[in-house]
Amino acid sequence: MPRTARPASGAAVAAGTAAFSTACTRCPRLAGHLAEVRREYPDYHARPVAPFGDDSPQLLIVGLAPGMHGANRSGRPFTGDYAGILLYQTLHRYGYGSHAESLSADDALRLSGCRITNAVKCLPPENKPLPAEVRECNDYLSKELAALKPGTAVLALGTVAHQAVLRGLGLRLAAHGFAHGAQHDLPGPLKLFDSYHCSRYNTNTRRLTPTMFEQVFADIAAYLRRPNLQRPRPV
Ligand code: SF4
Repeated sequence: MPRTARPASGAAVAAGTAAFSTACTRCPRLAGHLAEVRREYPDYHARPVAPFGDDSPQLLIVGLAPGMHGANRSGRPFTGDYAGILLYQTLHRYGYGSHAESLSADDALRLSGCRITNAVKCLPPENKPLPAEVRECNDYLSKELAALKPGTAVLALGTVAHQAVLRGLGLRLAAHGFAHGAQHDLPGPLKLFDSYHCSRYNTNTRRLTPTMFEQVFADIAAYLRRPNLQRPRPV
């Protein structure tokens, strides 16, 4: 039965992230930034954002970090801002999501077979975590990766997520370069799939189109031998 991680301030999150806490302040710059955001937006989550979805996924999606008015506000990855629109539509199309939209952390959406996390669990200023912050948070991602079943697909959204996955598995970054649509055989065994991040910038500039994104999910479906519920739409 899929479990939905429901972050709450200071609450530890079980299953795959045993040591993770939404009270984590290991990165002083990010903790200070979040304290400022909480003062300016008292109703925002504005704390580390816990992973969301199935505890025992076939597919783990790794994003970059919470967005200011998305996950940082709602407390659920890719929820409430532009970047989540294409992601949750695609997850629904490929049978992972109960709904095509993720509106808030307490809506009815459930993920089955899929879990979403971020390389960095805290909102970084200007969406740019420092390399030291990516390394500090990699401890959590490493635990999440270690909990995956052999054969799990891992989808990295962008270069930072791709490299965080490699680092989390103790692999050399030079051994596997990032490229949209690339696939990498990793120990575990795990299969890493790369996609450009589904950010507003990438989709507005058509660096990433819905067809390109859906093709990555079709590749994952073929690897997992899941029914390819809907073929990519012609654009
Ligand atoms: S980015 Fe990660 S390690 Fe750094 S404070 Fe946030 S949860 Fe902790």
